Amino acid sequence: MSHPPVPLGTFPTPVEPAPRLAAALGLGPDDLWVKRDDLTGLGGGGNKIRKLEWIVAAALAEGADTLVTTGAPQSNHARLTAAAAARLGLDAVLVLRGSPGVSRSGNLALDGLLGARLHWAGDVDRAALDTVAEQVCARLREKGARPALVPFGGSSTLGARGYVRCGEELRAQVPELRTAVVALGSGGTMAGLVAALGAESVLGVDVGALADPAAAAAEFGAPLTAERVTADRLRVRRDQVGAGYATLTGPAAEALRLAARTEGIVLDPVYTGRALAGLAAAVRDGDVRPGEKTVLVHTGGLPGLFGHADAVAAAQEAAGTHVF
Ligand SMILES: *Cc1c(COP(=O)(O)O)cnc(C)c1O
Repeated sequence: MSHPPVPLGTFPTPVEPAPRLAAALGLGPDDLWVKRDDLTGLGGGGNKIRKLEWIVAAALAEGADTLVTTGAPQSNHARLTAAAAARLGLDAVLVLRGSPGVSRSGNLALDGLLGARLHWAGDVDRAALDTVAEQVCARLREKGARPALVPFGGSSTLGARGYVRCGEELRAQVPELRTAVVALGSGGTMAGLVAALGAESVLGVDVGALADPAAAAAEFGAPLTAERVTADRLRVRRDQVGAGYATLTGPAAEALRLAARTEGIVLDPVYTGRALAGLAAAVRDGDVRPGEKTVLVHTGGLPGLFGHADAVAAAQEAAGTHVF
């Protein structure tokens, strides 16, 4: 039994046509739509709100007074966990990879504004990061707090339920949907969309956050469907990772410029920029074709753009300085 989700976001999010972006990609003007999950509202918006509605409901039912989670320094998930905590009168402790020396821009500035406390875990891998978070929870319990550990990226079967609902919204908004394109990070978002829409209708673009993100998406999604979807049945592109998760790839930089200049839509360098770059590659190799309905799921991440020095530099270089 899971508890009903605690309302945190504004739903359903809109779906908007993107005819000029479609043409630039080589699709027909009615072929491409954008699901605006950057507009979920709370804390600057983004996909983690849908997952947190379920995860936080379970934490509240257990009597938690503090949300603890993990992430990269520019984690959108950590920022939105801090926002959910603020909205509900809970404390937030963010266990972040790295050290306090990093620039406090982008998501880190918002983490501070939202009142979260930060614990720097050093340059550790995923497993060690989770261990540090467990230790932080133990310390908090010793001090009399009641911490609830929110999984990395909000990804679990419970969190993925939020994306089952997103998939249901999409089905109603775009009945002829052929492919929903989404960034694949910790896997919960793709897991929920696949449970709602079917494996053949969701194209995940790996951003390089996990060694095997398809396995993660399959694992989180398995309990949500009767027919067990295995990792090998998922549509996943791994050609957009480049030099790694936090790096700005050439195709992602180009995707950011393209979405901004054709539709006035701002993407982020780590997730949604890669998702659009992956869609462009899918059109080039024929996996996504003109005449089919494609939806780009905009999962948010704008604060991360301002926390990414290379992305800011690329945007500044792209700007024209003089009109005359
Ligand atoms: C976390 C995140 C994703 C990826 O979602 P997962 O469920 O972790 O795969 C995509 N876009 C943005 C902006 C994110 O912050």
